[in-house]
Amino acid sequence: MSRNHSPSPPIFDGHNDTILSIIQTGRSFFDRANDGHIDLPRAREGGLGGGFFAVYIADPVVAKHMAPGSADLEAAMKIYHDESTWPEPMPLAYAQSNAVDILGRLLQIEAASNGQVKVVHTAAELQRCLDRGVFAMLLHFEGAEPLDAEGAALETFYAAGVRSVGLTHSRRNQFARGVPFKFPGSPDTGEGLTDAGKALVRQLNRRRVMIDLSHLNEQGFWDVARLSDAPLVATHSNAFALSRASRNLTDKQLDAIRESGGIAGLNFHVGFLREDGARSADTPIARMVDHIDYMVGRIGIDHVGLGSDFDGALMPAELRDAAGLPGLVGALHARGYTGEPLRQLLHGNWVRVLRDTWGA
Ligand SMILES: [Zn+2]
Repeated sequence: MSRNHSPSPPIFDGHNDTILSIIQTGRSFFDRANDGHIDLPRAREGGLGGGFFAVYIADPVVAKHMAPGSADLEAAMKIYHDESTWPEPMPLAYAQSNAVDILGRLLQIEAASNGQVKVVHTAAELQRCLDRGVFAMLLHFEGAEPLDAEGAALETFYAAGVRSVGLTHSRRNQFARGVPFKFPGSPDTGEGLTDAGKALVRQLNRRRVMIDLSHLNEQGFWDVARLSDAPLVATHSNAFALSRASRNLTDKQLDAIRESGGIAGLNFHVGFLREDGARSADTPIARMVDHIDYMVGRIGIDHVGLGSDFDGALMPAELRDAAGLPGLVGALHARGYTGEPLRQLLHGNWVRVLRDTWGA
């Protein structure tokens, strides 16, 4: 895509729900599919070198709508749009058995890949994968529900390769409260971390596991900012100034991310990109670059990356899926991002923040 014929730097991405899509549809990560957004052939075609693979545990009331071909999943997800309809926090044993299964499926992909896919545990490993064209998988919990307050399960999941934990999805658990999906809506939706949540931040810091702030409400964000000794990271959130979705980051939050040496990853979901918040795929790729421009202008080129939400959100039709990423790279080129700044946006900043967080 690049007009000067030099290959684009590989892309490392802050968020996908691909394993959930694979479980729901029964498709294989190794075969090119028409549904969903990421598989290995489309990743290769689009220059996607790897990303955060979310382990997301569906609430029991939603899980029964997740059977292959189920049409009412979207309707079931509406319970997360209003705190008054949020489900009760799920039982620990339920979350843990689901997490073991989903993590196992991700590890099976690595095992079956003949060296084409690697689960990464250090920034050095990640950089080596990007340099050599090995697809890098970072294991991430989107919600800390599988973790107990005493920190025992964290050790087990760490040993299995988990290196990033979002405290909660857009719901509550024993640690924190998320933001309900609202547009327009403020991320400031009530109290922050519980005592168990504060203890979890300290456990994650000690273990040097990344803490993800996307989905967390604003008080929780500031609690983590005060307690954590790691860079502040929002893996898949946009600029609230351009799209007043509760899931996006206010200017003050963006500033705190910069001051901590952290990063915000651009979410490709049309509802978090658009000024009107509409779930319309008729949203130009240029709108994605508008958010990049805004965030780079506000907090600097060192603190912005990508966090697609592939397989978990509605993509702009122009982009479509991972194979469409060269369209985004072309739009970044056209807006003046080339050379080192482009490399930073596409993967360099993620590698740096992971190194600073993990220590290697
Ligand atoms: Zn998410």
